[in-house]
Amino acid sequence: MQISEHTRIAVIGSGTMGAGIAQLAASAGHPVQLYDISPAATARGLESIARSLQGRVDKGRLTPEAYQATLGRLHAADQLTDLADADIVIEAAAEKLEVKQQLFRALAEICAPQTLLTTNTSSISVTAIASGIAHPGRIAGLHFFNPAPVMKLVEVVKGLDSDSQTIESLCQLAGRWGKTAVRCQSTPGFIVNRVARPYYAEAWRALEEQVAPAAVIDAALRDGARFPMGPLELTDLIGQDVNFAVTCSVFNAFWQERRFLPSLVQQELVLAGKWGRKSQQGVYRWPRQHDELPVVRALPQEAAASLQRQGGPGMWLNGMARLTAHLSQSDLVADVPFLELDEVLVMATNGESAQQLARRYNRPVVVLDLADDYVNTPLVVMAAAATNRPDQTAKAIHFFQQQDKQVLLVADYPGLLAWRTVAMLVNEALDAVQKGVASADDIDVAMRLGVNYPHGPLAWGESLGWQRVLTVLENLQKHYGEERYRPSSLLRERALMEKHYEQ
Ligand code: NAD
Repeated sequence: MQISEHTRIAVIGSGTMGAGIAQLAASAGHPVQLYDISPAATARGLESIARSLQGRVDKGRLTPEAYQATLGRLHAADQLTDLADADIVIEAAAEKLEVKQQLFRALAEICAPQTLLTTNTSSISVTAIASGIAHPGRIAGLHFFNPAPVMKLVEVVKGLDSDSQTIESLCQLAGRWGKTAVRCQSTPGFIVNRVARPYYAEAWRALEEQVAPAAVIDAALRDGARFPMGPLELTDLIGQDVNFAVTCSVFNAFWQERRFLPSLVQQELVLAGKWGRKSQQGVYRWPRQHDELPVVRALPQEAAASLQRQGGPGMWLNGMARLTAHLSQSDLVADVPFLELDEVLVMATNGESAQQLARRYNRPVVVLDLADDYVNTPLVVMAAAATNRPDQTAKAIHFFQQQDKQVLLVADYPGLLAWRTVAMLVNEALDAVQKGVASADDIDVAMRLGVNYPHGPLAWGESLGWQRVLTVLENLQKHYGEERYRPSSLLRERALMEKHYEQ
């Protein structure tokens, strides 16, 4: 189908997503019909679009003429049969398979066979929605993110029977609307809702194991690894009920795959009605107070008076990846960046605890949670072996404070907070690539635009080093004895190839 501003768009469901999508379509110049089973909801949807557009006029981003013209292209449909002339239907009704199937069955009778029928579902199989419907080749997923007029990503989801022309037309449509389209297969969670699961799961686990308070876990990911928001504060914004439901849906859709196991701590919040910002209480109380982070106070100068550095601070400024080569020629610690401050070994986490490492190397050890560009991260999260003397740990703290970093000392937790999370994100992304869910490039784009990660997980894995990611996961798997941290076989392959090229 050739897409132009004359392409007639119909949107079904005028709630949060339907209204946003209709606004987007009308703003792009299309004639748009908006239908909802509840006429009052349609009216509310149109009002919310008018308010949103008026906000743009007030900010000088839209002329009053364009405002009028956009509203003029939007029409309420009283019944489903009014959508007979649509070229593309976008369904954003209730997230229930029966509701969607019933709608698609009716649409197949009402609309022409070439009308593209799409669903904005975030968790239901597109194949299941298309099942038994005439001409299933024209059915596909068109998954927008909330708020639809703002978020740049659209996942174009191919069901088992979707035609490639349908997918191409929808990608073209998304492009015309100023969005970046990524293509994926109809698998649970598509790209973003699947690959992002460990971001939440590792934070819940750390909370459950009482490694650190919520504010520290969030700070480690936000200020220590440059995610736009910590995982726990993000679940409060998404809504604990919504985020928990997505986790349960992905977990069940993957036949209770252990790495998607929902958290009991989160379930308790949901059961208590503590859904986050919308109920004024979730992990945090809302409106949110400023967190007092337990950063280590600046140490006095004498604490580090006798430091003998190998690999100076300048070396650390080179960024996150492969610091080893710059820091030391020693083969003391394979594959992991490290630094020696007198007798103290300061190293990036390899998924073992500082105490394990202290025992192995028979010296004081401090491990760092450094998974992103050192220069741009204001916070250094670290853990010390229990057998370190306080003045030994203080040497590492002082070293980073001298470089204007804030230091958070956390419990000696294998893989720490950011590193294990990033390793799991990389692992999940590789699993999705291996199973043909989407291309590596599309997965990276999806995670940067859909959830604003600082890097796509595959580019991130490559810059950290596949072998390092593998080592962290293998050590975590050994530590917990759990299936959850099993490395993807594609990760093993990539680690092997990396070694091959480095030889
Ligand atoms: P919502 O509850 O805000 O709106 C749904 C609307 O659909 C309601 O107005 C309801 O009256 C209407 N509706 C229900 N059954 C209908 C039917 N048979 N025919 C016509 N209208 C019907 O929901 P939402 O958040 O806008 O979500 C809509 C869809 O988009 C769901 O499939 C959801 O999974 C998906 N989605 C939601 C988000 C999000 O962040 N909210 C993001 C991406 C995708």
